[in-house]
Amino acid sequence: MSLSRAKAALKQYFGYDTFRPLQADIIRTVYEGRDALVLMPTGGGKSLCYQVPAITMDGTTVVLSPLIALMKDQVEGLSANGVPAAFLNSTLNAEQVRNVEDALLAGYIKLLYVSPEKLVSQSFQPLLKRLKISLFAIDEAHCISAWGHDFRPEYTQLRFLKEQFPQVPILALTATADKLTRKDIIAQLNLPDPQVFISSFDRPNISLQVRPGQRRFEQIIDFLKQHQRQSGIIYCLSRRSCEELSAKLNAKGFKTSFYHADLPARQRNQVQEDFINDKIPVICATIAFGMGIDKSNVRFVIHYNLPRNLESYYQEIGRAGRDGLPSSALLFFSYSDVQTYRQMFEEGDGNDEQKQLKIAKLERMFQFAEAPVCRRQTVLQYFGEPHDGKCGHCDVCENPPRRFDGTTAAQKALSALLRAQENVGMQLLVDILRGSRRQEILESGFDKIKTYGAGKEYSYDVWMFLLSQMLHQGLLEIAYDDFSHLRVTETGKKVLFENKQVVLAMPPEKAAAKPQAQPLEKNKAQLFRDELFDALVMLRRSIAQKQGIPPYLVFSDATLSEMAEKRPLADADMMRISGVGERKLQLYGDAFMDVVRKFVMDKSGEGTTLSGSSYLQTWEMFKQGNSVETIAEKRRMSPLTITGHLAIMYEKGELVEIRSWVRPEQMDIIQGALSLFGEPYELKEIYEHFEHKFSYTQIQFSIADFRKRRKK
Ligand code: ADP
Ligand code: ZN
Repeated sequence: MSLSRAKAALKQYFGYDTFRPLQADIIRTVYEGRDALVLMPTGGGKSLCYQVPAITMDGTTVVLSPLIALMKDQVEGLSANGVPAAFLNSTLNAEQVRNVEDALLAGYIKLLYVSPEKLVSQSFQPLLKRLKISLFAIDEAHCISAWGHDFRPEYTQLRFLKEQFPQVPILALTATADKLTRKDIIAQLNLPDPQVFISSFDRPNISLQVRPGQRRFEQIIDFLKQHQRQSGIIYCLSRRSCEELSAKLNAKGFKTSFYHADLPARQRNQVQEDFINDKIPVICATIAFGMGIDKSNVRFVIHYNLPRNLESYYQEIGRAGRDGLPSSALLFFSYSDVQTYRQMFEEGDGNDEQKQLKIAKLERMFQFAEAPVCRRQTVLQYFGEPHDGKCGHCDVCENPPRRFDGTTAAQKALSALLRAQENVGMQLLVDILRGSRRQEILESGFDKIKTYGAGKEYSYDVWMFLLSQMLHQGLLEIAYDDFSHLRVTETGKKVLFENKQVVLAMPPEKAAAKPQAQPLEKNKAQLFRDELFDALVMLRRSIAQKQGIPPYLVFSDATLSEMAEKRPLADADMMRISGVGERKLQLYGDAFMDVVRKFVMDKSGEGTTLSGSSYLQTWEMFKQGNSVETIAEKRRMSPLTITGHLAIMYEKGELVEIRSWVRPEQMDIIQGALSLFGEPYELKEIYEHFEHKFSYTQIQFSIADFRKRRKK
């Protein structure tokens, strides 16, 4: 099997022009009949790695998938692209199962999704043996590993696949697998010599923002105002805070709902459906939400509280921007979150070693939030992927911290701490430095110590920021076993007594101080694009509703955004939009082009000309009574281009009378020969075929008429 077949299928069924990095290599490996393990981040494009081989190879590809909700989604998505697919799991009744089995045995199904229970069950084996299987795809392959968090016992029984189907390649795919898990997957699946593909885990379309958690409600309101009508998730630590935050946001006029494990299953499903179907844009949820959701147009993920570790953080923000469009991740952190987790971990299950590990990971998470270092660099390094920093779209890169010689500031803080007998926590220390007259300070006599009020030059927030850096630089530490009081470390003593130099960073300027792009300054093209995009989104929603599928299965946001930009008005232009394959062109092309056409016509009515509306400019001039020749002259185009435009308007049903260009009996003859050529028709070929007996224009209109009637 050659890769050009794969590329043709990519365009025909999915409407994409090029493979993403590694996809082509993985597909080639499958074609060669070899096994492979694929590590790609969420949204990286794992599905295509087995879907394209499934479509192009003989027989059926069996896909193992642990999430029943996702199976249905995938099958619907494939069907919408004209790929015969089905699933078998516990949600089907006996008759539905029989129908799927019949279709399988008849060889109709290219992709079969099965649940782990089904795949390993004895009753399923006879059917499996009767099928011609092209490939086994093991999705979420990390479920194999008892080390991972999603362990599925059935996954450990998969060794039989290689034993009983030695000729069938196995493709294991996952978004989360450290070295240990990788080894486990290969061993459990019994893969003798697999190719391992590891793609970059960078998600460059997600901007990473981290902010201290003060006044986070106001900050969220500001954020939501800038992301009106976009889908997003706000993760909260507790079930109660999900409900409270949602209620508060609703009271401010935002449309939100909440989701957590205490809700009855029916209500949870409803919230999930409403989110998927773009009915409720924002969900306040615990991390349980999002697992079984493939929604590609989640535009933002906000962490109301600190995640428990960087793995969780990265997995959760990965739910944004699967369609590759710009998306945001906004994280709020506060030290009290760390304390809450600590308590949870200490009181929770597990032996001491496990608890220590959890706490260490939590501390890495907090350091990530606090350190003024490129966010992308920090996370990717954590996952073992080098990155040179300067990613350009994280808060640190966009607003670099101002560094200064912090030796004096550090000495003031350390000295005050020692003079307070190391008997104070962060907040009290700052109050001493700032000379607060709080009762607690006066009662303890801290107002008598020499360094009382020595740090008035910095605000409370600035001091908190500086102290946490001192913490990370190891000048201070927190005695968790002594009311979280601070201690001066050995390094701290060097700063204090040996004048060791310290470099600190000032907090970044408030984002608000930065001049924001004013909506008014948005150029006109951008405004048009936004307006058309909204109109296309509306159409998408109504189509999805009629068909009972999620909107993003009709077209992704990325596809609609490209349509809004390029404004396709003819099939050939539509086909060029990424995400428009043959099937979707047939099903939805006209409806979307209608919206584009109406939009463009409205705009030209307002006296604006939109580039890309060339057909319509011709059409307007023609309607005003200009001849083809006049239009061609005025528009500095060839008459043939102009009649080409008119032929399109004829195909669209706007122009009705074409007899002055071509007579019905001429059309009959020309159309009779079209089957010899096939789309896309080359005018010149047809012209030559008839030995110049018909004009180019006659051929143009005959083709338009042919297409128009075929559509009916
Ligand atoms: P994963 O399973 O790795 O999370 P998906 O397979 O769901 O990712 O792909 C994520 C998104 O990227 C989907 O919307 C998919 O259609 C799109 N996509 C995948 N491959 C390509 C490609 N070669 N060109 C354009 N878009 C692609
Ligand atoms: Zn950065």
